[in-house]
Amino acid sequence: MDLAYNDASFQQVSRRYQIAVTMNWRAIFGLRCPRCLRGKAFRSLLVMHEHCPECGLKFAREPGFFLGAMYFSYGLGILASLPICAVMFYHEYSPWAIFGVVIAQLALLSPLLLRYSRVAWLHFDQRFDPR
Ligand SMILES: [Zn+2]
Repeated sequence: MDLAYNDASFQQVSRRYQIAVTMNWRAIFGLRCPRCLRGKAFRSLLVMHEHCPECGLKFAREPGFFLGAMYFSYGLGILASLPICAVMFYHEYSPWAIFGVVIAQLALLSPLLLRYSRVAWLHFDQRFDPR
């Protein structure tokens, strides 16, 4: 009897794991389209193409679509600020100094966070609801 592989929740978890593993990390790091993996998502530092220049995929599929990118932006912001936070905490800097440095760091990184969180959101959305 092979209960583990027939269990619906196991298959659901397995599918989620599979999605995380098979995300197109190279295209995400290259800021590329989630469908063709070739077209550039951004035309300048902060401005996205409306459609993929290669395959014509409309990036913002509905108004407010990129609100979902905030989840990724939040996670990326934490990942980016955690190391410097840990180092400053270890060296016993005051909480206000740590706060100031983290705010400055996030302000400087915000263009990068915006770009990567939007493209990560596009790829995540494309995985769950392909177009
Ligand atoms: Zn494309």
